[in-house]
Amino acid sequence: MKPAPFTYHRAPSLDAALTVLATHGAQAKPLAGGQSLVPMMNLRLAQPAHLVDLNDLLEWQRIWEEPEHLVLGFLNRHHQVAQSERVKALCPLMAQMVQTIGHEPIRHRGTLGGSLANADPAAQWVLLAITLEAEIGLRSTQGERWLPAREFFLAAMTTAARADELLVAIRVPKARAGEVHAYEMFNRRHGDYALAAVALTLELHDGVVRTLRLGVAGGTPVPQGLHALAPAFCAQVPDAAWRARLAQAVRDAFTPDDDPEVPATYRRDLVHTLTLRALASATSSLQKVHA
Ligand SMILES: Cc1cc2nc3c(=O)[nH]c(=O)nc-3n(C[C@H](O)[C@H](O)[C@H](O)COP(=O)(O)OP(=O)(O)OC[C@H]3O[C@@H](n4cnc5c(N)ncnc54)[C@H](O)[C@@H]3O)c2cc1C
Repeated sequence: MKPAPFTYHRAPSLDAALTVLATHGAQAKPLAGGQSLVPMMNLRLAQPAHLVDLNDLLEWQRIWEEPEHLVLGFLNRHHQVAQSERVKALCPLMAQMVQTIGHEPIRHRGTLGGSLANADPAAQWVLLAITLEAEIGLRSTQGERWLPAREFFLAAMTTAARADELLVAIRVPKARAGEVHAYEMFNRRHGDYALAAVALTLELHDGVVRTLRLGVAGGTPVPQGLHALAPAFCAQVPDAAWRARLAQAVRDAFTPDDDPEVPATYRRDLVHTLTLRALASATSSLQKVHA
């Protein structure tokens, strides 16, 4: 099928893009990598009257540092992020996760802004933002605001961004010295969205766990950040018994919807196994870091 007719605006600047959005509101949609929006338009599931192409705004492919954070502009493509030496050094979990998105052509076109704005509950960027308690930067002609990820993602494919706002950046904490990470996903076919996925970071100090961040995706409207579990598992040695208890606690805390094709119990079992794998991988990296 072909998309419904629309007026095409190639934005020469962020301000020009924001002005079109402010003028046309919900009738206008930004176009980034087009990997989700164009198929939706071809199927006529999306019929924007105005399309605002963001692809000339190359200054938003910048990645910059703040004292405790790494900030990435919205037009960074997945593959640029995966290849960035700065991202590999300062947020290695991000580099690992985005490398697993879809297939190579999708990673070359798709952007972090498009993926976060799309808010697919199985998307790697969404799980990453929830796990790292990232902040999302939004801008309109009225100004800029930053929202914590847990307030930005409201439901599946639904965010707190207004129709006149562009997602401009994501801010994530820099990995600390001695911190390790792991990401484990399960899909039935290479390149598909994950049926279930687990992301975590773990920091050790004097042989015991100092910080633990954990997020789980699959079958929930928004990935679950299981941050409430962390206090009960910090200040302990991350041995096999600790890993088994934590994986069980994650399984118990994870509440996927029951779907006739993917029952909740199946997803919980998957998450249990993925958590055990992620913890084994992270703790084996800890041994290397502290060797
Ligand atoms: C076959 C296939 C497999 C895929 N597999 C995966 C996968 O395994 N994991 C995964 O995470 N993703 C997957 N994707 C999706 C891919 O990552 C897309 O790149 C991403 O979801 C959308 O990014 P985009 O830049 O292409 O956005 P677009 O398609 O251009 O836009 C998506 C939506 O976001 C809005 N938007 C875009 N940019 C902004 C902005 N800066 N501010 C506000 N709104 C904006 C658009 O208006 C639209 O509503 C897959 C896609 C395909 C086609």
